[in-house]
Amino acid sequence: MDQSNLTSATAADLANFLDQGSCSSIEITHAFIERVKTVDDRVHAFLHLDEDDMLAQANASDQRRAKGETLGSLDGIPVGMKDVISVEGQPLTAASKILENYISPYDATVTRNLKEAGMVIGGRLNLDEFAMGSSTENSAYGPTRNPWNLDCVPGGSSGGSSAAVAAREVPLSLGSDTGGSIRQPASLCGVVGMKPTYGMVSRYGLAAFASSLDQIGPFAQTVEDAALLLEVICGHDPMDSTSFPTEVPRYSSEIQSPISPCKLGLPAEFFGPGMDDEVRKSIEDAIKFYESKGFEIVQVSLPCTDLSIPVYYVIATAEASSNLARYDGIRYTSRSLKAENAIDVYSKSRGEGLGEEVKRRCILGAYALSSGYYDAYYLRAQKTRTLIRKDFEKVFEQVDAVLTPTSPTPAFKFGEKSDDPISMYLSDVYTISTNLAGLPGISIPCGFSDSGLPIGMQLIGRAFEESHLLSIAQVFDQEHGFGRQAPTL
Ligand code: GLN
Repeated sequence: MDQSNLTSATAADLANFLDQGSCSSIEITHAFIERVKTVDDRVHAFLHLDEDDMLAQANASDQRRAKGETLGSLDGIPVGMKDVISVEGQPLTAASKILENYISPYDATVTRNLKEAGMVIGGRLNLDEFAMGSSTENSAYGPTRNPWNLDCVPGGSSGGSSAAVAAREVPLSLGSDTGGSIRQPASLCGVVGMKPTYGMVSRYGLAAFASSLDQIGPFAQTVEDAALLLEVICGHDPMDSTSFPTEVPRYSSEIQSPISPCKLGLPAEFFGPGMDDEVRKSIEDAIKFYESKGFEIVQVSLPCTDLSIPVYYVIATAEASSNLARYDGIRYTSRSLKAENAIDVYSKSRGEGLGEEVKRRCILGAYALSSGYYDAYYLRAQKTRTLIRKDFEKVFEQVDAVLTPTSPTPAFKFGEKSDDPISMYLSDVYTISTNLAGLPGISIPCGFSDSGLPIGMQLIGRAFEESHLLSIAQVFDQEHGFGRQAPTL
């Protein structure tokens, strides 16, 4: 089969090709590796790719298949990994200089799940250092470019994961989402990205940013592919005490059965000023589409929305300052050669190894947690977080899902926001409250701007109701399939 037919196919298509015997996992894997070699000097989604290892995994998959021992529907399909998810024996840099030489000694639980499903674990994908950012400009190894317009950012922090799927360098990838880092880059790159409910996916083996918010989730061209990957990575894990003991539904088959139209809420607070006109127009078209399918559109209110960014930047920085204390020049990391005593080892190693944004967050977080300020900042932020969650609980008494834009604007240009942290923080204004409330959220491509940049719509659902959320998303996606369109590179 022609290589471009393979790299443009969805994961579901590739799985069919494999089942029908029309190609092998080796051929698929080879096609994607070649694609990376052709386009990644422009896109720079990859920080590392071990070709031989991928082909060995593909070969093992083909041998299983020949014996009739395939491990699942995604056996033999490649998947890219955000460079914060541990894969035994592979580098994990978190796009930071401080972890330049670190090799993971064990597999993250999601990695083990992928291996048990027979998937071909692909390269390491770029991000904002330690997942802090919204543009991938904070990577110590240079930014990723948006495949739709190489002068624009791919979003962040999982910009490598979204750009790699958009550029057809991988059919599927994993990212992590603490305040929008899967959904916002998915939106800016025109692919599907989903943050599951907090507790649905194990965080064991994920380099922690803000542990009460972080979740791993899938990127794909279609909702169906996202469902296929999600069902592989979800599930209870005794190694993560916040992972929830629940059965994992077969999302990919559940979304095939038609759902009866339900109620979608439009929160007034998400539709105010600050939203780009073309984004507004695409979202309005999506709303009309759902109405035409019999869905009831209900105006709702999430009154604490305005507080979500300030609350997030207290809680996330507080947790980050604690989580990142482990990168101390003694364990994991490179050590400053200029250190003359023990204190120097800590301060110089961190000073040299961590980037500006990461330092800013560690300093802010340590301040918010410090004695005398704890009650005024951290405690108050936690209380406000509860109010944000309660807002959603009330809204979900009225509606089945909330529909919003994913990001206020399409992809922006490099440098446009990098000198102004606040304006960068505001690009997550629609995604952050979902993390604070622990809810599942998905971004689905819903159109293009006049200049050809993708626009994304977000659907937020009730906790642990991924299946219903995916089914609602599928209604839109199977009719429009904007994520099937690929940029010309
Ligand atoms: N952009 C947000 C931040 O900078 C969210 C990051 C994320 O979800 N990892 O913190």
